[in-house]
Amino acid sequence: MPATRSTRSALLSLCVSAAFLLAACSAPPASPPAPPPSPGALVDLSHAYDAHTLFWPTAERFTLKPVSDGVTPGGYYYAANWFSMEEHGGTHIDAPRHFAAGGWTVDDIPLDRLRGPAAVVDVSAQAKENADYQVTTEDLQAWEKAHGQFPEGALVLLRTGFSTRWPDAATYLGTADRGAAAVANLHFPGLHPDAARWLVENRQVHAVGIDTASIDFGQSTAFQSHRTLFAANIPAFENLTQLDQLPPTGATVLALPMKIGGGSGAPLRAVGILPATP
Ligand SMILES: [Zn+2]
Repeated sequence: MPATRSTRSALLSLCVSAAFLLAACSAPPASPPAPPPSPGALVDLSHAYDAHTLFWPTAERFTLKPVSDGVTPGGYYYAANWFSMEEHGGTHIDAPRHFAAGGWTVDDIPLDRLRGPAAVVDVSAQAKENADYQVTTEDLQAWEKAHGQFPEGALVLLRTGFSTRWPDAATYLGTADRGAAAVANLHFPGLHPDAARWLVENRQVHAVGIDTASIDFGQSTAFQSHRTLFAANIPAFENLTQLDQLPPTGATVLALPMKIGGGSGAPLRAVGILPATP
């Protein structure tokens, strides 16, 4: 029996529905698009301190011991812990005193040096190819060509992309070994000493940060970038994270360390504040 117009149209609509269903079934589950970051939103640039926090191979790691955790005889719940760590592990500040005898200790650093316009220099492509990459003066000048001169008081943040490897010591530090012999096996990017000198001599930045374990690259033995920056009382932030969440320019960063009297370094809570007009 020849199909009538109505059965043909019914069949067609069935086929269209079937095709639609098939397409719907084979399509990946729909996920709502991520909302754009809201102006003024805060970005946490610090890793947590816990049993996985990475430290220099020779440094004692973070320890947290419960002192109390439970209902007291008074009938209320009470928790408190004891912790210990070396100054230079996890997301922390290096005070200038770390490598400069007359430099500021942590509590000496004026608060206004710890807040400023973020200049995020993205070298993640170079660092992905070369774990021993050192950020060059040319990288800094390329940023300026695109975004203008580093503003006075800028916090220059070097984004190598290595924070995505955290807390895997083998890929983040170059070695999961511990102890003095492991230091020679450290491989991660840093700031080239020539670029540190260029910054100190030509710009008025307040601090330099990086998303690796040290402002000098892993294979450094002279720590010249530390020494150059700290001689000029420019602190360093190390083991930052989420730098990919900041625009190259326009965000403000507030980086507040634990105020250790006489400290050469301290745990750091660094926060990015996104621009009001993205
Ligand atoms: Zn340090």
